[in-house]
Amino acid sequence: MRYEFTKPAEYRRIKIEKSIAYLPWGAHEWHGFHNPLGLDTLKSHGHCLALCAETGGIVFPPIYCGTQTMKPYRGFDATLNFSDGCVRMLVDEYLEQLADEKFKVIVIVMGHYGGEHVRAVRETVEAFNVRHSECVAWAVPDYELTKPDGINGDHAGATETSYMLYFHPESVDISRLTKDGELNMEEDGVGGLDPRTHASAKLGRDATNLVVKNGAPKILELLERMQLAADERG
Ligand SMILES: [Zn+2]
Repeated sequence: MRYEFTKPAEYRRIKIEKSIAYLPWGAHEWHGFHNPLGLDTLKSHGHCLALCAETGGIVFPPIYCGTQTMKPYRGFDATLNFSDGCVRMLVDEYLEQLADEKFKVIVIVMGHYGGEHVRAVRETVEAFNVRHSECVAWAVPDYELTKPDGINGDHAGATETSYMLYFHPESVDISRLTKDGELNMEEDGVGGLDPRTHASAKLGRDATNLVVKNGAPKILELLERMQLAADERG
């Protein structure tokens, strides 16, 4: 179910049986002194693999391309900030290619939440959906799937750090954070609940389970709708 490890025969079979393509979409971005720079993308890849285990389908290799990152927003280095137009173009090219591959449902899980970034992805998806009837795309930032059950999104805070402790525990080093005082966005680039006291692998697992609980039914519903429409067309 990971595209990069799938052979053509299995790829074709999955496309017929569960025609869902997952695109884990993140950024290259500062996530505190304690987290890896690929956090948003590693996180969305973990979420897509968990969703795919529930719904079936294929997870494409994660995409690193974010706009409105911590670089222009707060001046942090170790961050690559792509233009709004670049994000829109790349989303559009992926959607068109996956439609050409005859996927019926395309799911973009957004690990990076910059407001302009989310808008660029969503507007491109909406325009794609207007043009296509045989394929539907859905883009969602992960926090929208956990918030209804009480787990909020953050930036390198307890929630995002917990995802890393769950998916890639070796990549987190809490001791790199200052021991005293509050963490902040200006110097630490950390926002949300304090990861020093609230982050855990268990929270990361619980939140991932919510992503699946609240995301998988919607995805399967989209697939059913597209299959019915295809059957009607004959
Ligand atoms: Zn993040």
